[in-house]
Amino acid sequence: MTATKTSTANPNKEMIIVYRKIIAGLAVAGALFVTAACGDNSGTGTGDDKGTIGIAMPTKSSERWVADGNNMVKAFQDMGYKTDLQYAENVVETQVSQIENMVTKGVKALVIAAIDNKSLSAVLQQAKDSGIPVIAYDRLIRETPNVDYYATFDNFKVGVLQAGYIEEKLGLKDGKGPFNIELFAGSPDDNNTFFFFNGAMSVLQPYITSGKLVVRSGQTKVEQVATLRWEGATAQKRMDDLLSTHYGAANVDAVLSPYDGISIGILSSLKAVGYGKGGKPLPIVTGQDAELASVKSIIAGEQTQTVFKDTRELAKTAAKMTDAAISGKTPETNDTKTYDNGKKIVPSFLLVPVSVDKSNYQKILVDSGYYTAAQLGG
Ligand code: BGC
Repeated sequence: MTATKTSTANPNKEMIIVYRKIIAGLAVAGALFVTAACGDNSGTGTGDDKGTIGIAMPTKSSERWVADGNNMVKAFQDMGYKTDLQYAENVVETQVSQIENMVTKGVKALVIAAIDNKSLSAVLQQAKDSGIPVIAYDRLIRETPNVDYYATFDNFKVGVLQAGYIEEKLGLKDGKGPFNIELFAGSPDDNNTFFFFNGAMSVLQPYITSGKLVVRSGQTKVEQVATLRWEGATAQKRMDDLLSTHYGAANVDAVLSPYDGISIGILSSLKAVGYGKGGKPLPIVTGQDAELASVKSIIAGEQTQTVFKDTRELAKTAAKMTDAAISGKTPETNDTKTYDNGKKIVPSFLLVPVSVDKSNYQKILVDSGYYTAAQLGG
């Protein structure tokens, strides 16, 4: 019952439109190529000579950091800066030496998502001595006075959204239970890990205390449930062990997972012992970052939920902060109390995270242009 398209009166016009589309496509491809080429090089980009911004990201192994890096390059270039974007593949020493190089080259500012939040004191002292402002990106840098501003999301809220989802889907507020749950946390050298976990436990702990949630492994402390460098494979191994040691005939009903890469590991472990088949449904599994593989998993009915943090907005916020700091202005912040890094309270701008599941991914992720329907359909 599709309406037939009326053919255009002027075939030349149609060809012109096609050519225009091809040219526009080439232009986009060209721009992407330039961005990609700029990715790991120094002193690239367009614009007036406002100098170079050093951007140090943790790893390309997670899509979100790739998006963050590309979005920042774009935002800074639009402001007339060049960029030096570096990824350290989760190796702390590599990140430290990348930042040292940026300082030596005389970048105008540093934007850093740290791998290990306590490893940057020496290099940030060098930055300070050279008058280079430092913006902590998404992850707070700890134990140094030489971090000027922090752009992030409300990290406590992320944990509240994950645990609140479990609370709602299990009907805990209505008194249902007891249910079995296992807990996972992020990397112990990432400050966010504690905010996510504390946020989640602010919701879950009362149910654990009352016995409506049962952690059969007994592992409820962040040190016991942390996942070094957020590795999915490490989480998968831990889930294998939990299932074989504590879940003979019992089933797990929910798993608190702090990040999509970890959720994928947990799901592999669950599926390997028969969850998701016959009378053994997969438990509720949360996540974070709305990474493509996890959104597809949500659509397929495997992972249950994720927390979307719009990296486009974070990149813009960080770029605005950086530009203001360079120009000697006071960047806009909306939180000057929460983020104590051990040496100072770092003035922060917190963006709002959003819970996403099968019921709203279309609106939040597709209608907003974060993903195309085709990306999710494949
Ligand atoms: C970020 C999360 C991310 C995690 C693993 C955290 O610091 O806030 O968005 O899932 O690192 O990369």
